[in-house]
Amino acid sequence: MAKKHRDRSWAPAPESLPADAHVIDNHTHVASVVPFSRAMSHEAVSKGQPEVPVYSVDELLAQAAAVGVEGVIDCGCELPNLMTAVNMAIDHPDQVHAAIAIHPNESVLHGHRGVPGPDGLPVRYKPWHDVPFDEAMAEVERIARAFPDQVVAIGETGMDLFRTGEGAAELQRQAFRDHIALAKELGIALQIHDRDAHREVIETLLADGSPERTVFHSYSGDTEMAQIAREQGWYLSMSGASSYKGNDAIRESARIVGLNHVMVETDAPYLTPMPYRGRTNAPYMIPYTLQALAQHLDIPVADVARGTRATTREVYGI
Ligand SMILES: [Zn+2]
Repeated sequence: MAKKHRDRSWAPAPESLPADAHVIDNHTHVASVVPFSRAMSHEAVSKGQPEVPVYSVDELLAQAAAVGVEGVIDCGCELPNLMTAVNMAIDHPDQVHAAIAIHPNESVLHGHRGVPGPDGLPVRYKPWHDVPFDEAMAEVERIARAFPDQVVAIGETGMDLFRTGEGAAELQRQAFRDHIALAKELGIALQIHDRDAHREVIETLLADGSPERTVFHSYSGDTEMAQIAREQGWYLSMSGASSYKGNDAIRESARIVGLNHVMVETDAPYLTPMPYRGRTNAPYMIPYTLQALAQHLDIPVADVARGTRATTREVYGI
């Protein structure tokens, strides 16, 4: 039997959210969607499939607005991308804000040549990794202080122990602590990337004291972790992963913390919600994730939208 070809085309737009229930995609990488979809198009053509249109950042934001995703928080988490997110926010003051940080997987590369990569393979260093971590972190702080109207969060930071090389965990933890301290000093939200590192992330937050507004981006924990989040007043941001079959614990976690501690995100270009998992993700896909949550919580989608919108407003002041 012939192997089914992966469909690389864009998913159709979801039904638009009602006018009084517009939302914000509180964690996305819009600039990355453009080259990602270009690569998808090349792949499609090479497999004899039709070309896939490549949309600009402006077009992607317009498509989101058309279905009621009225804004995004764009995340720049590699040293050369910090200003990409901030500039997008400057260019679209009503629609875009920025979150900036040095991603945990990046933090271990700065000034640390020689750390073994996943599975002991050599790491592919980029030119900016010559900058020592402390200097990269100083740049995050400088930009956050210089653009207070644009930068509404420090993130994504945290720990990523998925196929992480030896010695990296401690470097990540130290980098995470620096980001926690900065978010507290600036009095803005912290967006956490936690991949296969629930225990380590929680321990670090509790040891250092979490910022007042601490967000688990693309929440992937279980219901026990959600109980801890509830006790600590932490926020859970639901990505398309919350719509995947088998992720009942993630959906149930939304019920545990309550909609006043739940937000939605795409983390585009990855983690596309059902029923379009595998396609390219972009902010216009948010309503599908809201639908999955609404179905699990057994409440109208507009109520989930309004609840997450209010939470986002409170967490980021936007
Ligand atoms: Zn992300």
